Amino acid sequence: MDTIKTKRDSLLFGLISILIMIFIFSVYAKAETFDGKEISRYLSTIEKTKKRQPPLDPKTGLYVNQIKPHLFYVTDGVYQSAFLETAEGIIIFDSPPSFGNKLPAIIAQYAPDQKIKYLVYSHGHKDHIGGSALFKSIEGLEVIAQESVANSLAHRANPEILPPTISYTNYHTLSLGDDRIELINQGHFHSNDADSFVYLPKQKFLIAVDVLSPGYAPFKEFEVTPDFGRYLTIFELMAKTGAFLAVFQWFSK
Ligand SMILES: [Zn+2]
Repeated sequence: MDTIKTKRDSLLFGLISILIMIFIFSVYAKAETFDGKEISRYLSTIEKTKKRQPPLDPKTGLYVNQIKPHLFYVTDGVYQSAFLETAEGIIIFDSPPSFGNKLPAIIAQYAPDQKIKYLVYSHGHKDHIGGSALFKSIEGLEVIAQESVANSLAHRANPEILPPTISYTNYHTLSLGDDRIELINQGHFHSNDADSFVYLPKQKFLIAVDVLSPGYAPFKEFEVTPDFGRYLTIFELMAKTGAFLAVFQWFSK
């Protein structure tokens, strides 16, 4: 008899617990709903955010800015790429899938008659380099990535991403014409493979992707970093390069 009562009490307890959980979930779900009243709290922020957006060309949907002689910054308002025209050819930095198909024409427009020699990856995420296969027909093109990124890309074998032909462990210097590019492995401040600074000392231009967007909160879990300690140190390391220009997640400043 006692056993039956205990079982009945357990079932009742379980049922009440489930009902409580459903109630708590429904309260939270309601709180997360962005109805008109909720979203109005964010409208002023959205206006400020819009003002920070670069003026996109209505024809291409891109903003191209020659930020230093022969150094071009390209964005669709969300993702970025850049390219440097040297005396001996062009170096491209990242090629996002969102506008990678437009990059060859943009490069031909701003740096005509120059051969594309190198494509450099900041890290291995597809949303930043998944437009690289557009350059696969370029003869002799060298693609540079950090070793862990190269291994990971080889494992994934994504046809939209050109496999690296040159890899490095901690540091790599690329010289072309009178220009020099420093590639510095900075650990896992954002991705699981490796995240590199791409630094152009002559132009004092630093590419540090998926770190932070000026004026924004880190977009998700502090830029989805697997190493929060490293993430916290990265800003000091950026400052130490002496760069006054940097590419972040959404746009440059
Ligand atoms: Zn990323």
